[in-house]
Amino acid sequence: MGEVDIQPWLFQIEPYEGESFSHFLGRFRRPNHLTPSGLGQLAGIGAVVARWERFHLNPFPAPQELELLAIVVGVSAERLAGMLPPKGIGMQWTPLRLCGACYGEMPCHRMEWQYKSVWKCDRHQLKLLCKCAKCEAPFKMPALWEDGNCHRCLTPFAAMALHQKAA
Ligand SMILES: [Zn+2]
Ligand SMILES: [Zn+2]
Repeated sequence: MGEVDIQPWLFQIEPYEGESFSHFLGRFRRPNHLTPSGLGQLAGIGAVVARWERFHLNPFPAPQELELLAIVVGVSAERLAGMLPPKGIGMQWTPLRLCGACYGEMPCHRMEWQYKSVWKCDRHQLKLLCKCAKCEAPFKMPALWEDGNCHRCLTPFAAMALHQKAA
């Protein structure tokens, strides 16, 4: 694939290293005032975006769909594919997990937290959180992590690092 055509009327969002697809899609949509279906329409890929944001990845996003999405979001299809689970890696989508210490350094949901085999953060040697450390509300899907805090008690994700157990 060649260069991605930039859509000058849209805000471009630089992906974070390791960012999950759901989190990136939400971050792109918000400043551009796009609903999931609006983004799907713009890209010409139909109603799949809402499913992808929920990590409903069966059927798996097709290369053609990622190429069409790439034109709208201004991020290459290869980079978008890199936000999806790698082949052969078992995933666990519920509960959604968080390392608050990572979030404090780089505010995004990381795909690797949802690997079935992963239960701790190797960077910080801390156990991943499976719910809010303060009020125990489950985390919302990452596309909705707009404010970087618990939607119920408003504890910042970064502050939850203090409550993570050493791994
Ligand atoms: Zn971490
Ligand atoms: Zn909470």
